[in-house]
Amino acid sequence: MNLYRKIPQVDLLKQDELFASCAPSILSDAIRIELDALRRAITEKKIDSIDEQALKERIRKRYEAMLHPSLESVVNATGVILHTNLGRAPIDEELFEEAREIATGYCNLEYDLEKGKRGDRHEHLSRTLCGLLDCEEALVVNNNAAAVFLILNTFAKGKEAVVSRGELVEIGGSFRIPEVMNASGARLKEIGTTNKTHLHDYEAAIGEETAMLMKVHKSNYAIEGFSAEVEMAEISRLARSRGLIDYYDLGSAYLPELPWGLGSSEPSILRLMKEPPSLMSFSGDKLFGAVQAGIIVGKKALVDQLKRNQILRMFRVDKLTLALLERTALAYRRGEIERIAIMRMLFRTPEELEERAGRLAAMLAIPSEIRRSETYVGGGTLPNRRLPSVVLALEGDAQALERHFRSHRIVGRIESERFVLDLRTIAEEEFEGIAACSRAWEAQRCAN
Ligand SMILES: *Cc1c(COP(=O)(O)O)cnc(C)c1O
Repeated sequence: MNLYRKIPQVDLLKQDELFASCAPSILSDAIRIELDALRRAITEKKIDSIDEQALKERIRKRYEAMLHPSLESVVNATGVILHTNLGRAPIDEELFEEAREIATGYCNLEYDLEKGKRGDRHEHLSRTLCGLLDCEEALVVNNNAAAVFLILNTFAKGKEAVVSRGELVEIGGSFRIPEVMNASGARLKEIGTTNKTHLHDYEAAIGEETAMLMKVHKSNYAIEGFSAEVEMAEISRLARSRGLIDYYDLGSAYLPELPWGLGSSEPSILRLMKEPPSLMSFSGDKLFGAVQAGIIVGKKALVDQLKRNQILRMFRVDKLTLALLERTALAYRRGEIERIAIMRMLFRTPEELEERAGRLAAMLAIPSEIRRSETYVGGGTLPNRRLPSVVLALEGDAQALERHFRSHRIVGRIESERFVLDLRTIAEEEFEGIAACSRAWEAQRCAN
């Protein structure tokens, strides 16, 4: 009981010199949290005295932690280029710099500089994307999930959209095609079986209520063995002959031909556009390599209808997103593939990676071995497609090393019971930070 009375007064604590530079409201929160913890410790009889100085230090630490940003940059040493947990595609610094002034100042987002009148935010990217992707019209929304929702809501609400059973996928972060369809007001008409769907399945499913034939990219899984799916071009032809809309949720799109045989199982978007679906959508931050966005391309009359849907207002993107997407699209348009950060990583040769590995190894305080390995693109793209890579395998307890590096915000992986750093996704500017982390490990080891 006595101990409760020894709990320091909040007002007195606040006046302590240790907190002189603290913002009062945050300090109050920090004190409250620490005093609550102290009371609990007393109640549970975990302490028999109160160390006031230690308490103040805990409050100060809590205060600092509350002001520390939760979102921090990390070193991606996993080798997975589009790591969904690590923010998918990083943006090239130069492209970001070009887009910066659009966000830090005013811009012509919805202003027509020639006419001196209100303009349309959706028009900025339309020309560049149409030129780049060879389509009639383009529209950008918040992400591809929003694109799927908007398209279904606009064209299939209260009606049926036909989808193959083999394509009713769930994409990381609980995006499930059947559930998104349901939320959009479209009725799902499942056809075929898990492993096989034929064109006649689509034909047989078309009825009075049908509005759309939809194809969904399987993204993060593949069906092998006895299987069949229908090409989008065939679905498009059938839809048009019946006066229906054909829509392809492509998920991820890439432009340049990919190295390491990665493109062998699926065509680039430019090849798909040789027989373009009436509507197609994909993510801005998967293989396209820009920011989070949903890019819709297709027939002008249909995209114009999407623009008239009130829901678009909820899915519209900010000027910073538009600026970053436009800079990325222009880099592709100029053929400057090396300006897209993920493309640079994707094209690095094993020889180049080995040379980098040698330099990094020489900087580390922990002995390591250079090894050839394999990684994948990630982000729910190109499932089962591996690409060559080079790793540094560090000497020492793999689990402990993994934890130590992670505490320094360096995320690697464990391979054959070794903690490894994969050079494919590590930038040269990150070498010094990794070296410092290895020195901290050695220092800790020597101390023990
Ligand atoms: C990734 C993906 C989505 C979701 O896209 P986001 O940009 O993450 O919203 C939808 N459909 C398919 C087929 C996908 O691969």
